[in-house]
Amino acid sequence: MRIGAHVDSADPLSEATARAADAVQFFLSDPQGWKAPKPREDADRLRAAEVDLYVHAPYVINVATLNNRIRIPSRKLLLGHATAAAEIGAKGLIVHGGHVNAGDDLAVGFDNWRKTFAYAADAGGFALPVLIENTAGGDNACARRLDALARLWDALGDYEVGFCLDTCHAHAGGEELLDLVDRVKAITGRIDLVHANNSKDTFGSGRDRHDNLDGGTIDPELVVAVIRAAGAPAIVETPGGVDGQGADITFLRDRLAVGSPTA
Ligand SMILES: [Zn+2]
Repeated sequence: MRIGAHVDSADPLSEATARAADAVQFFLSDPQGWKAPKPREDADRLRAAEVDLYVHAPYVINVATLNNRIRIPSRKLLLGHATAAAEIGAKGLIVHGGHVNAGDDLAVGFDNWRKTFAYAADAGGFALPVLIENTAGGDNACARRLDALARLWDALGDYEVGFCLDTCHAHAGGEELLDLVDRVKAITGRIDLVHANNSKDTFGSGRDRHDNLDGGTIDPELVVAVIRAAGAPAIVETPGGVDGQGADITFLRDRLAVGSPTA
């Protein structure tokens, strides 16, 4: 099982070494900005690395919204990120499920997701797997609760779509972690990546504040169980830099080794 962390984008391979991580996730541009990613000088080194790379798309992206001034640039920025992430050999591009505004029809939001994949297909397709991530908050989210996720996957039909399961977002979003992997896979057929985070906030709070695995309101054994059931790589997006994330990675490795079923 590959275990890693979300790290600073300046030198992701050094960050991986500092945490003894098998995988790293990072941004290719300001997560709060609309600027397209610039080509990286270390692209060759990143492509050749043993460490698995994941790219997180900017938070401003919302391809579901009915607001043209957000939706259209979101599509473009997502496609640009897919190209740039493939350029460095990333295994996947993670993007939040997005939402529609209060009073807007969520069905249009799901169809906007379909149009995003159609737009990418017209441009030759996304250059790597796009992993849609579940989110913690909002009443009009496309991927907070599983009933919405099922409608999203219906809308996406035959497009190749991956899924990233965030344990903090699920818990804060109001989905029990127990057996969650089975319920998600019944919809998506796959989980490509787990974001292994504890939550500072309570079940169903709708708040998105990550905590280290031994902190927060989630029993860390449930996070371990999610990773094991998913059979997918895990990335911690937890506080504390090298020390905090390093401890989280060690905890997951120890627990996954101890409880792994023998053949
Ligand atoms: Zn996440």
